Amino acid sequence: MSDRIRWAILLGIGLVWASAAAGQPLIVPLAEKAEVAAGDRVEDWTGKSILVFTPHPDDDTFSMGGTLARLAANDNKIVIVIFTNDNKGSKDLDMTRERLARIRRAEEEEACRVLGIGKESLVWLGYDDGDLEYADPQHLRGEVCRLIKKHQPDAVFTIDPGVKWDQWHKTDHRMAARITKDAFIAAEWHLYYPQHLLDEGLKPHPVPVAYYFYSLEPNYEVDITGQIEAKIKASAAHVSQFEPSVTKYTPAMPEVVFEKIAAKFREMHKKDDRYVERFRREESP
Ligand SMILES: [Zn+2]
Repeated sequence: MSDRIRWAILLGIGLVWASAAAGQPLIVPLAEKAEVAAGDRVEDWTGKSILVFTPHPDDDTFSMGGTLARLAANDNKIVIVIFTNDNKGSKDLDMTRERLARIRRAEEEEACRVLGIGKESLVWLGYDDGDLEYADPQHLRGEVCRLIKKHQPDAVFTIDPGVKWDQWHKTDHRMAARITKDAFIAAEWHLYYPQHLLDEGLKPHPVPVAYYFYSLEPNYEVDITGQIEAKIKASAAHVSQFEPSVTKYTPAMPEVVFEKIAAKFREMHKKDDRYVERFRREESP
């Protein structure tokens, strides 16, 4: 079977997405709209310190690429913390974990470059794909807590752990959601991980507001109309997350796949004559 025919068959059943966002609520209708004072909308922020926690090096792009591009263009200081190296999601029998980790790292750096964020703004915690839940939770919470104290963020973006009930996420995502939220508490009190203050002079920091992506109960929309094309381009930089590169890795994305990705993202994010990304906003999380 020619590659062209195989792609046509794969695409015929929809966009073939490897693993990252599959099964995650990329965007769902607004549950209840949060009221935000004029001037405090994400779209208007400038000069803020923004900390993002993402389970894999693609969830940030897929869930909030437009918002990241907008924050970067408005001169906010953005740091993206990536829990895992995403080194297992390939069906290519010739692929190795080491090579896949390198590919995924380069793809994330390229995606961020498209969004206006340099690779010096990326922090790689380096956990193996699928193994975040087997990390020592107290140590992992300490790593997140330390980064919050270090960067003193005005806002944190991370995955939604749920409101009244735990929100189901696939592995790595659920650990990332819970541990980050737990770290908010630890970051507020100096007697959690006292070595951060004693050894490094890092002061406690209550996170003022959190914006959760992959939320089933979003209450906040960010207008990304001016950033939708950048989001599409950045998402397509994650070549190995889409067929045909999942089954047999190739660094070149066929045009037909790019068009499918572009159409899918436009469809997902469209609201009337605009494009939006949705989050659950929580003050003093
Ligand atoms: Zn993921």
